[in-house]
Amino acid sequence: MQALVLEKIHELSLRDFPVEEALGPHDVRIDLRTVGICGSDVHYYTHGAIGQFIVREPMILGHEASGVITEVGSAVTHLQVGDRVCMEPGIPDPNSKATLQGMYNLDPAVRFWATPPVHGVLRPSVVHPAAFTFKLPDNVSFAEGAMVEPLAVGMQAATKAKIKPGDLAIVMGAGPIGMVTALAALAGGCSQVIMTDVQQPKLDLAATLGPITPVNVAKENLAEVVDRLTDGWGANLVFECSGNEKAAAGVFAPLCPGGAVVFVGIPLQPIAYDVAAAMVKEARVEHVFRYAHVYPRAIALMGSGKLDVKPLITDTFRFHESVRAFDFAVNMPPTSVKAQIVVAD
Ligand code: ZN
Repeated sequence: MQALVLEKIHELSLRDFPVEEALGPHDVRIDLRTVGICGSDVHYYTHGAIGQFIVREPMILGHEASGVITEVGSAVTHLQVGDRVCMEPGIPDPNSKATLQGMYNLDPAVRFWATPPVHGVLRPSVVHPAAFTFKLPDNVSFAEGAMVEPLAVGMQAATKAKIKPGDLAIVMGAGPIGMVTALAALAGGCSQVIMTDVQQPKLDLAATLGPITPVNVAKENLAEVVDRLTDGWGANLVFECSGNEKAAAGVFAPLCPGGAVVFVGIPLQPIAYDVAAAMVKEARVEHVFRYAHVYPRAIALMGSGKLDVKPLITDTFRFHESVRAFDFAVNMPPTSVKAQIVVAD
């Protein structure tokens, strides 16, 4: 089948790539429709590795996906041929200790699309466990369906934050994950979000998504804005989505006493935070690694119209333009948030 193959660092090709996949009794076969380009896909392209995961042989990219079911395994009862679906890209060992304790995202044996040596889904079809395949409501498009994966990270962050209705949250970083975290925080009950970044076009877009106050930290003072909006008390929640060392060093300053910080963005280098500053506020600190159990909730929020990811989909490419799409994503203009590839209509 034709696939977008990362041959090695800096080298992508759209070419015939043999993939043999047998359909097990609990699997479905899916024709791909839309696949989003993630920062991790781009990072494998430009750096050939993320931490311990190193691209050692040609690998198909892509893990943010939607599609249509073309075949169902004999034991599958909740899905049918023709169902429009999106898929959770990480498949854990169902018998692992982590999975049995409900933390399947933390299973060390998890097989995650486009994480070496596991192939991704920028290709015409894939076989996937039915348990990790979710039906889309009729009013949710394939493009939105492919946004469920990044949104799931924001959903996990909002869940870990234990939002109380009316909380004020700060989201640091207006990239795709910062944006979906802000949307999930608002859907989860936050009254408003203060969003920080240094790229003004991203902040301008964020301000259109809901009760979001953009703060360009290159020229504005975050502390002043937080003081003004909270009468000097501080934010209930801080979501660190930038992965930036300077941002992480300052997460406790705008937090209210007893507030919570959630680390969402993955720093590329080890970073430090101020433990003493956390102590004087008895700050609760949470971390997220991907997500678990949130796909149905993310889809429900999209289906009901409570959460809209469409403004985040800024650039769409055709499958035959996949290499160009990735070169675009490497040098993404500040006006863009999420680029997607339409594999098939
Ligand atoms: Zn992703």
